[in-house]
Amino acid sequence: MVIQKPKVVIIGAGIAGLTAAKTLYTTQNSNELFELCVVEGDNRIGGRIMTSEFNGDQIEMGATWIHGIEGNPIYKIAQEINPFESENPWECKEGKLMDKEVTITEDGCEVNSSLVQSISNFFNKMLEFSSGEGNFQDRVCREILESLKLENGSTENLSIGSFLRKGLEFYWDLKKDQENVQVFDKWNRKSLEEGVFAMLENIHRHYSSAGDLGTLDFNGESEYCNFPGDEMTIAKGYSTVIESLASILPDGLIQLGRKVTKIEWQSDDCDLKLENGGGTKPVKLHFSDGSVMYADHVIVTVSLGVLKQGIRDDSAMFSPPLPSFKTDAISRLGFGVVNKLFLQLSPSTRDDGMKFPSLQMVFHQSDPKLFHPKVPLWIRRTALIHPLYPNSSTIVSWFAGKEALEIESVDDEEIIDGVSTTLSLFLANSKHFNNSESAAGSCIKFSKVLKSKWGSDPLFLGSYTHLAVGSSGDDLDALAEPLPKRRKDGDNCPPLQILFAGEATHRFYYSTTHGAYFTGLREAHRLLEHFTMC
Ligand SMILES: Cc1cc2nc3c(=O)[nH]c(=O)nc-3n(C[C@H](O)[C@H](O)[C@H](O)COP(=O)(O)OP(=O)(O)OC[C@H]3O[C@@H](n4cnc5c(N)ncnc54)[C@H](O)[C@@H]3O)c2cc1C
Repeated sequence: MVIQKPKVVIIGAGIAGLTAAKTLYTTQNSNELFELCVVEGDNRIGGRIMTSEFNGDQIEMGATWIHGIEGNPIYKIAQEINPFESENPWECKEGKLMDKEVTITEDGCEVNSSLVQSISNFFNKMLEFSSGEGNFQDRVCREILESLKLENGSTENLSIGSFLRKGLEFYWDLKKDQENVQVFDKWNRKSLEEGVFAMLENIHRHYSSAGDLGTLDFNGESEYCNFPGDEMTIAKGYSTVIESLASILPDGLIQLGRKVTKIEWQSDDCDLKLENGGGTKPVKLHFSDGSVMYADHVIVTVSLGVLKQGIRDDSAMFSPPLPSFKTDAISRLGFGVVNKLFLQLSPSTRDDGMKFPSLQMVFHQSDPKLFHPKVPLWIRRTALIHPLYPNSSTIVSWFAGKEALEIESVDDEEIIDGVSTTLSLFLANSKHFNNSESAAGSCIKFSKVLKSKWGSDPLFLGSYTHLAVGSSGDDLDALAEPLPKRRKDGDNCPPLQILFAGEATHRFYYSTTHGAYFTGLREAHRLLEHFTMC
């Protein structure tokens, strides 16, 4: 009699899926324990890690930074394959602060660095306070929080956005005598401070992926963790980490172009229904080409965006539907859109020595009459635009929220026009862009553009997870729970049919590559433990 080995299928060849596959495959004797395959809907591996090329430069369309190198497993993999050196320059090669940023208003006035510093210090102090890393005894932050507490003293449903804005009111109260001091033609001290504050909020929108900080949960922030140490980018590209994980897997183990459309499983409250084709295998996967595959255990690593779509009535990715503790968690958690935009400066900086600055952009906030009519609305909440590395003629910027989604459908010509017009206004008087052709008032031109489209790509439907107001770390844990969890007495329902990995299932490291990596390890070990116990 031929004994069928259990079959493990991993859905998704992003970092979570590949880490799970590598762990299962390399664990001693695992080959004899089970049959393994990875099915990936795309025609490439890597998921939200995607190194690409633009204007002759290596660029990252998705994950860019190793967030803190001390103890970070991604740094360890990167070190092992030595990708911190390259003959060619790479994105943010010299770390976070490439060139000192210059802060300019939309009408071309350079903001004094001491004003920017003063607001930044206050803003960062509040963020540190909310993350639990700062000084919890800080009197001003405590007062801000007290003023926002509900009658019962709770901070339930408080958002980071409300906390920050209340902080700005406190800040202005401290400097009331100066608020009407005229700084530039169209700016007094108060409006300029609000512009700088909004710029910092916009930077935090793309860090967090919350389209609006009013939707980012205040209490959730204190659970989020980062590794200590420097932030680094990878010289030979983030995809080298993916290639390293996949290199150990035999040919054919990863099947590309295999999009799963439906996962049929046996929930613990229904009688076991096994189709003949599946033998004893309780899970049936349906693919977009009409084919099916049977499995004992499936590790689902698709993004939270794909899960959100998958629990909509018309999509029905799971049959029977996921239990309500899962669907509630999926609905409550936030999954925002963050996109990167790359532009090629024309003429090339390499030919004429022109140096584009690291530009922090301050837009008018309160009075729409001051909004320049030629500046598109989709750029007004972008904070930073800078060269890929010092002297590069590739310029990069990040977009978040509805603006990030909007640029996905704006055509290239319109983007080039919109960004050129905007930057020409910002840099009209700038000594920082000291090229004869682009001196005061003349146009900054771009010849080519490339943008990521994480929001509309059906394999992602967004960029990364955040704790939306009303959600909590418990929701991330709920998402990580396998189904069904344990075989109960008298229950003939096979356990661990569907396991969940991916960045959205890590309580402290969600939204990151290392978070995704840890979840792949976690689910592989859950299965290994199960097999050794059986
Ligand atoms: C613009 C951007 C910038 C970022 N910057 C950073 C950063 O600097 N540092 C950092 O640590 N993190 C960053 N991240 C986050 C990081 O990229 C992700 O957290 C991480 O890569 C997620 O890995 P994952 O394996 O969980 O999911 P994914 O990479 O999304 O992998 C899931 C895989 O499942 C596949 N899939 C989806 N649906 C199906 C289906 N139905 N059938 C079959 N396959 C399917 C997808 O194609 C994908 O390959 C960034 C992300 C983005 C988008």
